[in-house]
Amino acid sequence: KKMIDELILAKERAEEINRIKSYFFANMSHEIRTPFVGILGNAEYLTEKLTKKADRELAEGILVSSKRLMDTLNKILEITEIESKQVKIRLREVQINKFLDEIKNLFEKTAEQKNLFLKVEQKNNIPFIYTDENLLYEILANLVSNAVKYSSQGVISIISDYFKEEDRDYLTISVKDEGIGIPEDKQELIWQEFRQVSEGYNRKFEGAGLGLTIVKKYVQLLNGRISVESKLNKGSNFTVYIPYNTNLLHSEKVNEIKEEKKIPDNSKNKKSELTKILYVEDDPNARFVVKKFIDHMCHLDFAENSDSALKMINDIKYDIILMDINLKNGLNGIDLAQLIRKIPAYMKTPIVAVTAFANPSDKGEFLSMGLTHYISKPFFRIDLTQLIEDIIDKM
Ligand code: ADP
Repeated sequence: KKMIDELILAKERAEEINRIKSYFFANMSHEIRTPFVGILGNAEYLTEKLTKKADRELAEGILVSSKRLMDTLNKILEITEIESKQVKIRLREVQINKFLDEIKNLFEKTAEQKNLFLKVEQKNNIPFIYTDENLLYEILANLVSNAVKYSSQGVISIISDYFKEEDRDYLTISVKDEGIGIPEDKQELIWQEFRQVSEGYNRKFEGAGLGLTIVKKYVQLLNGRISVESKLNKGSNFTVYIPYNTNLLHSEKVNEIKEEKKIPDNSKNKKSELTKILYVEDDPNARFVVKKFIDHMCHLDFAENSDSALKMINDIKYDIILMDINLKNGLNGIDLAQLIRKIPAYMKTPIVAVTAFANPSDKGEFLSMGLTHYISKPFFRIDLTQLIEDIIDKM
C-alpha cells in the first residue's frame, strides 16, 4: 500500500514537471520572439535606409544572423510542442491546387537566386483533401526548403498524385530534386533529431538537423507516412502520403475570408492611405517597428492596452485592427477582440492577431476565436505590408 501511494505521488510529480516544462517553453518562445521584432525589424529597416555600403553590410549581418537564430528557435519549439502532445489537429478542406501554388511562391525567389527551376505538377484530378493545412504546409515547406538547400543545379518538382492501397485512399506529394543526394547508408539517420549527413568539424551545411524529424512527426500526426529515394550526386525524391479522411466532410471549419478574384485597382494607393488602422500593442519596440513599416501607407494609431483601445474605437471608426495577444494590463487580445466584435460598427472589421504565440496550432486557435487574420512575431516588412494590402483589396 505504501509503495502504491509513493508511485501515485511520483506520477503526479512527473506530470507536474511536464506541465511546467510545456509552460516554460511556451513562455520562452513568447519572450524570445517579442524582442526579435525589434532586432529583425530595425535591422531590416536599416538595410534599406543606410546609404554607405559598409554600414549596410553591418545591418545585413544582424539580419542574416537573426533569421538563422529564429529558424533554429522555431524548429526546437516545434519539436517541443510535438513531444508535449500539444499539437492540435484541425481538419479542413484544403484546395490542392492553391496549396501547391502557395508553396511554390514561397520558394520561387530563393530557388531562382540559385539558378534552380521550381515547378508544380498535379497528376490527379482531385481538387481538395480534408487534412490539417498548417501541418501539411510545414511538411512541404521543410521538404522544398531542403531541396533548394541541397541542390546547386537542375529542377525541383513538386508533384501531387493519387495512391490507393487496400481500402485507403491517399494524396501523395513528392518533392524531387537533382541535388547532392543522400548516400544509402545515411538514409535512415536523417529522420533522427539533430542528425545530418555531413557532421563534425567538416560539416558542409548549416542547420539544426531538425527539419525532417518535424516532418516525420507531423506526417504521422496526419495518419500518413513519408518515404525517400535518393542517389548520391543524382538527387532525392521525398514522397508524403496523406490519407483522404473522406468521412470528415463536416469537419470543423476555421473562419475563412472568402477568396475573391483580384481586380486591378488604380485607386489602390489612395484607398490604402485613407485606411484607418489601430495597432493595440504594449511593447514599444513592436510599435516602433510597425510604425516604420506601414505608417506611410495608411493612417496608423496606437493603443497600449485594452482600456485605451476601447476608448479609441469609440472616437474613430477604424477599418483594420492589429491586435497583440498578450497585452499585460487589462484584457488580453482575444477577449478584447471578442468585445470589439459585439460593437455594431465593428462586427465585420478585420482583426489581425499580431503575436508571439507562434506554435503551429496557435493560428487556428486565434482564427476560431473571432480574429480574422494572423501574423506571427517577428515578421518581415513584406509580410506585414502584403497582409494589409490583401485585406484592403478585399474591403
Ligand atoms: P538540416 O537541413 O537542418 O540539416 P533536416 O532534418 O531537414 O536538417 O535534414 C537532415 C539531413 O538530411 C540534412 O542535414 C541533409 O544531410 C539531409 N537532407 C535532407 N534533405 C535533403 C535533400 N533534399 N538532398 C540531400 N540531402 C538532404
